[in-house]
Amino acid sequence: MAMDQELVKAVTTDNNFRVLLLNGQSVVETARLSHHLTKTTTTVLGRGLLATLLLASSVLKGTEGLTVRLNGQGPVGGMLIDADAHGTVKGYLQHGQVELPLLANGDVDVASAVGTDGFLEVLKTQGNLDPYTSTVPLVTGQIGSDFAYYLAKSEQINSAVGVSVVLDEHGQVKTAGGYLIQTLPDADNTAIAALEERLPTLPSIATMLTTATDPVKLAAMLLPDEPVKVLSQEQVAFACDCSKAQFAQSLAGLSSSELRQLITEDHGAEVVCHFCGARYQFSATELQQILAEKGKL
Ligand SMILES: [Zn+2]
Repeated sequence: MAMDQELVKAVTTDNNFRVLLLNGQSVVETARLSHHLTKTTTTVLGRGLLATLLLASSVLKGTEGLTVRLNGQGPVGGMLIDADAHGTVKGYLQHGQVELPLLANGDVDVASAVGTDGFLEVLKTQGNLDPYTSTVPLVTGQIGSDFAYYLAKSEQINSAVGVSVVLDEHGQVKTAGGYLIQTLPDADNTAIAALEERLPTLPSIATMLTTATDPVKLAAMLLPDEPVKVLSQEQVAFACDCSKAQFAQSLAGLSSSELRQLITEDHGAEVVCHFCGARYQFSATELQQILAEKGKL
């Protein structure tokens, strides 16, 4: 069972932990290409996308969705990410072209890029119910631990969250992955202490993915004393549901004089989707049609 772009859900058979493992190489590489990201912003947005997929998978059901806003007042600005319960995610950074010097060990300086003076906000949409919003302050700006703090404070879920991205020398995504290890209510305290001691000594999950892609082997690296049982696995994807029709509706929301200006001065309009970078062209004729439809309302 190789782990090819998959989100694997597992439990330890002693009922100590619930484990989510994520191989998100193609998610992060697709985001990089869609938004023309730098090494710094590929790593920052990549971690955000991975953490959001893990969060969505652990707290959402059915048709529920969530939107994550994260802003630490750092040079990359705010991050906005949407995910559903079925492994689909999309998102962007306010300043996707920022590139900071690497740390002495060659790693991207995520905390400096994100900043730590800010918040992580999660908005959950649940069918016909009112959306539910919860906000926590950022603790490290490293993203994984910020999501773990959110889970503890807002969802009463004690967990360890690790997300990481490894780039090659050209800035392409070599590996990207994440884990979310949730402590179950009756977990043994000795096992929790052993895990807390072990996690800081391990290489990043993306580094582990360079040598092992089998989820059971990965789980064994994280939790060597715990027998693991895989419950389910699903595909994940960076994908956007935007369409030209949707942007035609947004254009119809402009005032008639603004539309006339686009027609006479710009002879058309180009609209860019923030979430996926897709570009939609509207000719002067198409804008005329939107303007005419508006007149009928
Ligand atoms: Zn889009």
